Amino acid sequence: MKRSLALAFAFFASFLMLAGARAEAPFSFETAPGKLPKTVVPLDYDIALRPNVSALTFTGRESVSVRVTTGTSMIVLNTLGLHIAQASVDGHAVSSVVTDDKKQTTTLHLAAPVATGTHAIRLSFAGKIGEQPQGLFYTKFQTSGGERTMLATQMESTDARRMFPSWDEPAFRATYRLQVSVPKTFDAVSNMPASSTTITGDTKTVTFARTPKMASYLVVLCAGEFGYIQGVSDGVKVRVVAPKGREQNGRYALDAAERLLAYYDDYFGIKYPLPKLDLIAVPGGFPGAMENWGGITFTQGDLLFDPAVQPDSAKEGIFQTVAHEMSHQWFGDLVTMAWWDNLWLNEGFADWMQTKATDHFNPDWHLWQRVNGDVETAMATDGQMTTHPVQTPIEDETQADAAFDEITYQKGGAFIRMTEAYLGEAVFRDGIRQYMRANAYSNTTSANLYAALSAASHQDVATFAKAWTLDPGFPLVTADETCTNGRTSIALSQQRFFYEPDQTSSQLWQIPLRIAPALSPQGAQVTLMANKTQTVSAGPCDGPVLVNAGASGYFRVQYDATTSAALVNQIARLAPDDRVRVLADTQALVVAQKAPPGAFLQTVSNLGSDDNLAVWETTLSGLRRIADFEVGHPGLATFDAYRRSVLRPVFERIGGWAPSSSDAAVASLQQKLIEALGAAGDQEIIAQARVRYAKFRTDPASLPPNLRPAVLNVVGTYADAPTWDQMHAGIKQSKSTEEALMYVTALCHARDPELAQRCLEMSLNGDIPAEAGPVNGLFDLVTVATRARQPQMSWAFYKANAPKLQEHFSEFEQVYIGTKLLPLFWNAAPQAELEAYIKAHMPPGLPQTAQVLHLLDLTIATANRVVPEVDAWVSTKGAGTTAAGR
Ligand SMILES: [Zn+2]
Repeated sequence: MKRSLALAFAFFASFLMLAGARAEAPFSFETAPGKLPKTVVPLDYDIALRPNVSALTFTGRESVSVRVTTGTSMIVLNTLGLHIAQASVDGHAVSSVVTDDKKQTTTLHLAAPVATGTHAIRLSFAGKIGEQPQGLFYTKFQTSGGERTMLATQMESTDARRMFPSWDEPAFRATYRLQVSVPKTFDAVSNMPASSTTITGDTKTVTFARTPKMASYLVVLCAGEFGYIQGVSDGVKVRVVAPKGREQNGRYALDAAERLLAYYDDYFGIKYPLPKLDLIAVPGGFPGAMENWGGITFTQGDLLFDPAVQPDSAKEGIFQTVAHEMSHQWFGDLVTMAWWDNLWLNEGFADWMQTKATDHFNPDWHLWQRVNGDVETAMATDGQMTTHPVQTPIEDETQADAAFDEITYQKGGAFIRMTEAYLGEAVFRDGIRQYMRANAYSNTTSANLYAALSAASHQDVATFAKAWTLDPGFPLVTADETCTNGRTSIALSQQRFFYEPDQTSSQLWQIPLRIAPALSPQGAQVTLMANKTQTVSAGPCDGPVLVNAGASGYFRVQYDATTSAALVNQIARLAPDDRVRVLADTQALVVAQKAPPGAFLQTVSNLGSDDNLAVWETTLSGLRRIADFEVGHPGLATFDAYRRSVLRPVFERIGGWAPSSSDAAVASLQQKLIEALGAAGDQEIIAQARVRYAKFRTDPASLPPNLRPAVLNVVGTYADAPTWDQMHAGIKQSKSTEEALMYVTALCHARDPELAQRCLEMSLNGDIPAEAGPVNGLFDLVTVATRARQPQMSWAFYKANAPKLQEHFSEFEQVYIGTKLLPLFWNAAPQAELEAYIKAHMPPGLPQTAQVLHLLDLTIATANRVVPEVDAWVSTKGAGTTAAGR
C-alpha cells in the first residue's frame, strides 16, 4: 500500500512505540502471531455478494471449506459490522452465533463438535456500504450524464472482515471464488478474470475465476460504469480500468505497467502468476494505492495522467506508484509477511524497488540521487528519541494501521538499498529469487529473507540486519582523518544519532562503510564497522576521504573540522550523490546542535556552478525550512534576498525561462527554481509569471503544461482580488480533477490575508472537486500556513472547523492526520496553547500524542536557536552575495 497522505505531510514525525523486538524464527503457520485459533483453517471461499447501490447496503452468502486440525465445538472467525443471518456446518444449523464487534469476531457454537478433517461452513450475512475506504465502500463521480456511483474495496490492513466473514489474518491463505450481482449498466472487476456473466432483468451477475491461495487483505472488488484500455506484457493481459470516459488518461500508466511486468518477471525469476492485471482508478477519498493481487486500486491522481494539462514531472509519481504496487504482486502477494510486525518486508522492499525499477526505465530522472528526500523523511523521524524500530511488535491487528509510516517504508527501503550495495546487486537479486522460489504462495518472517540472502552471499545477513531492523534509530559515524607518513588514517567511532543533545545510547550497528577519496570516489573500499571505534587506512594523503561514498549507507557522518572544511570548500567537485549527502548531513548536524547554521549556508554558497537537480532539491528544501523559521521575524526579508542571490545564478545558468536543454531533470529544476525565486520575491520572476499567465488566459497553448503549476503558484502568491477571482473561475472551467487542483493550490498561495481566508473557506465549501478526495482540504490549510505565510489564520480556521474537516476520515486516519498536521502549526500560537489543544484533542495515552508534543517542542526550540544565528551569518558572510540579489 502507498498512502498519498504520508509523504505530503512528512516533516518531522515519529511514533513512540516499545523497542526491543526479538530476533525471530522463520515462518511457521502454527506459531504466527494473531488472535484466531489455528485449529480451523479456511481452504476455499465461495462468496456471492449482492450490493444495493441505492440503499448502500449489501447481502451475501458464503460457503467456506475448512480443514479442522483439532476437533472443536466452537469456530471463531472475523467479522466487523456484519449481521449474520444464518450459519451452518456441514448442513447442520449451529446452536448459536455470537458476534462481538469490539473483538471483531463471530463465534459459531456447534450443537456437536466437528472432528478433524474437511468441513463446509455456510453463512448468510448483511452489511453496509460505507463512505470511508474500509471494506466495501462507495464513491461518487461526475460524468457528462450526471453523477455516478462506484463501488470499491480497501481491505488492508484488517477490513476484509467488513465485507465477508473471514479468517482475516495474513497467515490464513485460502483460495477465493467471488460472485457479485450489480446493476446491469455496471462492470465488475476483481482479482481474477470473470468466468461467467449473466443478465437477469436489471441485474448483472459476474462470477470470477478462483484465485490462487492468498491472504484475505488482498481481495478486491470494484463495480461501476467503467472504461478500459488494455495491452499485453509477457503473455499477461494488462488493463487500466477507470470511470467511463477517463480511461484514455491511463495510457501512460498502462505503458509503464507493461514494461514493469516483464522487468519483474525477470528480476524475481518467477512469472507473474495470475492471468491478468488490472490497474483501477478510484475517484474520491481513497488514499494512495493498494496492491490487491491482480487488481491494484489507485486514487485517480496516482494513475491517470492528462498530457494536455499536467507537467511531465507528474509522470514520476505515477511510474513510481505503479512500480511500487506491481512489485508487491510478487513481494507481498505471492510471498506475504506472516504478521503485521513484519510489514516492513512488504513495504521496505516495495519502497526500494519502486526507485530501482523506475530508475531502470527512466535514468534521466536521476532517482537514486533524488531518493535522498525520502531517506531524510525517515531520518528526521528516526533521529528523535521517540522513534521506533523497523520491526515493531503489533500485539493486536487494530494496531496494524499504525505500522504504515516512514520508518516501515522509507527506513525499510533505505536498509534494503544499503544491504544490496553491501552484498552486491547480482548476489542480492539471486537471494531474492531464492526467497521467492522457497516461499511462493506462503508467508515469511524477516528470518526467511535473511536465510535466502545469506545462502546467496555466504554472509551472516541476520546478524548484519539485527540492529538496523530491531533497534530504534541509526548511527552517527564520526571520522577523524589524519595524515601520517603520507598515508591517510581515519579514526572512526559510532554512536546513535539524536536530535536531542542530552540523549545518549550504547547501541551499536554493523555499518558497511564505503571509503573513498572525495574527489575520486570510484572503487570505494568496503569495510564493515561492527565495534564502537575502529581505525582504517585510506591510501595516500590526497584531500578529504568519504566514509559513505555513493550515499547508499543509512547513517550520518560528522568529519573532523579540517576534513569538514575541505568538503565544504570542494563541495562543487564531489559526485552528485555525495554532494547531496554532505548537504543533508550538514543540515541534520545543525538541527542536532553539532554544527552552526552557517555550516549549511556556507556549503550552499560554495555550490557554485552546480545545476544538479538532486543537489538543488536538497538545498531548496533546506532553504525553505529556514525561510519558514524566519516567517514573522525581522530577518525574513534579508534571508529572502540571500535566497535570491543564491538561486538566481543557477536559474540563469540553466537558460532561465528558455532552458538550454530538453533534459527532464533540467525542466524539473527550472520549475522548482521559478517557484522558489517567486516565493523569495524575485521581481523579474513575478513579472514574467504574470505576463505568461495573462497570455495563457487567452491562449492556453502558450504556456506549456510543464510550466503551468510554477507560473500559477507565483501569480497566486502575489494575486490581488481580481486576479484571484479569475483563477478561481478556472476551477469550474477545468476539464479534469488534476487541472482543477492546480488552480486550488495556486489560490492558496495568496499572501493577501483576505484571499488566504477565502482559500481556507474553499476547504469546506465544495469548490475542491470531491473526486480529488477530502485530504485536499487539509493540504490547503498547510499551503496557507506555509506558502501564504499565514500560520495564525490557518490555525484559527483549523481549530474552528476540525470536526468538519475530518468527518470523511476513519478514526485511525484522524489520529494520523493529527500526528502529521498539528506540528505544522508550531509557529501559529504560543506553545502552551498548542500543547493544551493537542492534549485536549488527541486521544489521551496514545503514543502519537506524546510524539506530537515532543516534535512541537523540538521544532520551536530549533527555530528559536537557528533564526538569530542565520540572521547573523547572512548579515556578515552572506552580505556579499545578497548585494547581487534582486
Ligand atoms: Zn506498499
